[in-house]
Amino acid sequence: MKIAIIGTGYVGLPTGVGFAELGNKVVCIDNDTKKITSLREGKITLFEDGLEDLLKKNHQNGNITFTTSMEEGVSGADVVIIAVGTPPHPVTKEADLKYIYAAATELAQYITDYTVIATKSTVPIGTGDKLEELISKANPQAQFDVVSLPEFLREGYAVYDFFNPDRIIVGSDNEKATKVITKLYEPFASKTNILYVKRRSSETIKYASNSFLAIKIQYINEIADFCEATGANVLEVAKGMGLDTRIGTKFLNPGPGFGGSCFPKDTQALKFMSKQYNVELSLIEATITGNIARKKKMATKILAASTTPAPNIAILGLTFKNGTDDCRESPAMEIVSAILEQNPHAKITAFDPQGMKNAELILGDKIKYAPTMYDTLKDAEVLAVLTEWPEFKELDLSKCASLMKHKCICDFRNLLNAQDAQNQGFTYHGIGR
Ligand code: NAD
Repeated sequence: MKIAIIGTGYVGLPTGVGFAELGNKVVCIDNDTKKITSLREGKITLFEDGLEDLLKKNHQNGNITFTTSMEEGVSGADVVIIAVGTPPHPVTKEADLKYIYAAATELAQYITDYTVIATKSTVPIGTGDKLEELISKANPQAQFDVVSLPEFLREGYAVYDFFNPDRIIVGSDNEKATKVITKLYEPFASKTNILYVKRRSSETIKYASNSFLAIKIQYINEIADFCEATGANVLEVAKGMGLDTRIGTKFLNPGPGFGGSCFPKDTQALKFMSKQYNVELSLIEATITGNIARKKKMATKILAASTTPAPNIAILGLTFKNGTDDCRESPAMEIVSAILEQNPHAKITAFDPQGMKNAELILGDKIKYAPTMYDTLKDAEVLAVLTEWPEFKELDLSKCASLMKHKCICDFRNLLNAQDAQNQGFTYHGIGR
């Protein structure tokens, strides 16, 4: 099939490469000229395990091409997938649809034959209806239908998740469009659940799923605080809870709060929609409030662990999780800002295996960036571990002890062995234990 993908970010690029690998002819469109120039040279524009090799292979065999021209990408496509950003509006926090609307208005002009327009971007309920109106208005002759194909990939596992999805949700109110999408997902039909639902249900499934996971994280974080107060160990508690198949083991890792480009914005967008529809979603509201407060509390904990008025603080981990270079709404970004708000004299030096460039775009020169893990530690009073990169687990704690001014660790991912740290003379603060 001929597929156009609008937006070559964390969703659009792995999706485009995945469909190309399945033998489709894919054109990826982005209005960021720099990204398209890099991709045309076979250079990857984001960090995602396994993506670069697949990209090169499919670029060389001609299954995937890159362009800034909407006309070149959309003309003659069977399916146009919209994968542009839907960031939170800076004031209202609703999903800002300006990129979606701009893409739809532009693509409308180049629809030639019958085309299915699919939203992979996370969009508010009813966006499919609005896109139909907008495209018809921009091009009254266009023959098209709009479907919702929400994306559930995990950053860091995007390639794996493309080929091995837990489920595929197809939100379509139209039989002709459903047939096209059924053909598109034919290679997955024998190995995964494909659920066909109303378009509005599909749009809702995405928000309801992400918000459920956010609630689960906030819940275990609150239980972790409770364990700290009662003397229980949250790791044992989470294990005991997870053995109940009704609860499950996933998303029961306590930490510094949830972040990333999806959970904070999607919970906020759902809250905004609940107000629009006058429906109370109190669990979501409590989760958002609790999660924002948690990051400030983490900053307070780090500062409380230091002893001088202008402490040197070492931070390991800037991305919102391991396996990605994405720092958008990363807990580390917010904890760093909160530390500097609470104590403007604090001096922070940080390291991340993949996220330094993106972190610098957000934090600028508010902190120093170290070339290795150990370079963060010279004269540091506190070491704070904020992302669960596996390499941090391998830290040589005796080397850390020799470099630091005070021996104190705030391990907010429960990554290190507390006993080993204590044996090296560290004061160790984990989460919930
Ligand atoms: P991103 O910011 O990484 O990528 C968006 C891309 O769209 C950018 O490269 C941008 O230049 C491009 N773009 C914007 N307007 C355009 C236009 N008019 N024409 C062409 N290109 C345009 O965003 P992302 O993380 O890939 O997220 C995209 C959507 O997918 C969002 O709605 C997000 O909520 C959703 N989503 C993201 C993830 C994730 O893990 N990142 C997972 C599931 C769903």
